[in-house]
Amino acid sequence: MSRLLTRQIKPLFNNRKVKTSAVQMLATTHRHGFSTTSRRRIMDTTGFTENQMTVREAVSAVCAKFPNTYWQEHDQNETDPTEFHAALAKDGWLGIALPEELGGSGLGISEAVMMMQTITESGAGMAGAQAIHANVYATQPLAKFGTAAQLRETIPNIISGRWRTCFGVTEPNTGLDTLRLRTVARKSADGSHYRITGQKIWITCAQVARKMMLLARTTPLPEVAQQKPSSEGLSLFCIDLDRSRPGLEMRKIRKMGGRAVDANEVFFDGYEVPAEGALVGGEGQGFRVVLHGMNAERCLLAGEALGLGYAALGRAAAYARDRVVFGRPIGANQGIAHPLADAYMKLEAAKLATYHAARMYDEHSKAGDKSSVRQDAVGVAANSAKYLAAEAAFTACERAVMTHGGMGYAVEYDVERWLRECLVPRIAPVSREMIMNYIGEKVLGLPRSY
Ligand SMILES: Cc1cc2nc3c(=O)[nH]c(=O)nc-3n(C[C@H](O)[C@H](O)[C@H](O)COP(=O)(O)OP(=O)(O)OC[C@H]3O[C@@H](n4cnc5c(N)ncnc54)[C@H](O)[C@@H]3O)c2cc1C
Repeated sequence: MSRLLTRQIKPLFNNRKVKTSAVQMLATTHRHGFSTTSRRRIMDTTGFTENQMTVREAVSAVCAKFPNTYWQEHDQNETDPTEFHAALAKDGWLGIALPEELGGSGLGISEAVMMMQTITESGAGMAGAQAIHANVYATQPLAKFGTAAQLRETIPNIISGRWRTCFGVTEPNTGLDTLRLRTVARKSADGSHYRITGQKIWITCAQVARKMMLLARTTPLPEVAQQKPSSEGLSLFCIDLDRSRPGLEMRKIRKMGGRAVDANEVFFDGYEVPAEGALVGGEGQGFRVVLHGMNAERCLLAGEALGLGYAALGRAAAYARDRVVFGRPIGANQGIAHPLADAYMKLEAAKLATYHAARMYDEHSKAGDKSSVRQDAVGVAANSAKYLAAEAAFTACERAVMTHGGMGYAVEYDVERWLRECLVPRIAPVSREMIMNYIGEKVLGLPRSY
């Protein structure tokens, strides 16, 4: 362990457990290739901070223990990557962007994005990212707006991996029109509990989660006064997901990719949660509170898309160098080389947008309302980054499959898995079309189209 490496991680990990693990990981990094996917690092790392590069090296060492065959099998068998979640939790990575006083590492979303990119880039793909990412972004509003008791009860259990969490926003009858969410949480007459009734859909990891960050209406939509924005009646809750109690059911959705992680319909029918400790932030303030998590989520998703794109492109370039047809490597044909070069430049441009958005998010978070970085500017940057990274990843993944010819369709070459998974950042947590609507209206001042 060189002095230089010790110095590098010092400012990073004050948490003793995390620090010790990171030292061990850094010591072993050199024994593994950078990633389980490709030994050649194609992303240019100029301009990243020491902290980000240390995170990249240390997390890739954890990921190297989970080869592509692990992810192929879990995808095909639709089994949760429990060991992967546990390995990251054991080394303290789930608390990367949580405050040190709560047991986290006190780093920012800029480092968390690097962690998520490293995970997808290792070959774990979106399945690896989705197994853990809600624990990183959904805890952001909790850490900022939760009470001392809520934080004491929840955060250490999430960081240690004892509890997992999921994010419950999307509803079947509302779609992207989040302000019209219908799930209702009504307070009992004696004020002791809330009764939740409604339906959520596409909730990732609900089968394995102990907690859900739930966005629900405390004032039904028709009752929200006309002059107020409809966001007024929404509240954010941190609730137990306990199927042994009445009023809670869930059903797994069969899906195209990322099959190792479950996605679910969740049904609430008068499900009761104690009023004390459930509400995060004020009643009716849920939309403002959850925005904090949503911008973080867009930054993380952008990083995840980048990792997927670089993994696929690295594979495609390696195949194009090795595969000989008509007596020469297929990469000697410009019809193969140019689309890959174009995909690389698109990823590099999206990378700049992604880490710029993450930096803005961190600056705004640190200084809050006093920050020179406005919340709406963070929203524009985070949405733009998610859009650009998802498109760049799609281009890279599609071209990787085509470069492999018939073998691009074979499970053992992984690129088909990544192509299936790279559609997720295009759809979620907000679609391409809605990002363009948002930029058109908020940045360009165009009339609202919906
Ligand atoms: C794998 C996966 C995991 C997910 N995980 C979670 C999770 O953990 N928690 C959670 O809460 N949600 C989750 N989601 C849900 C995801 O966030 C939503 O699917 C996404 O926001 C799109 O919403 P929708 O499916 O209701 O689409 P819809 O709102 O039905 O939209 C359908 C299509 O119409 C377009 N459209 C709609 N309105 C307009 C308009 N005004 N202008 C232009 N185009 C429009 C959309 O862009 C989209 O292409 C997940 C989804 C997937 C696929």
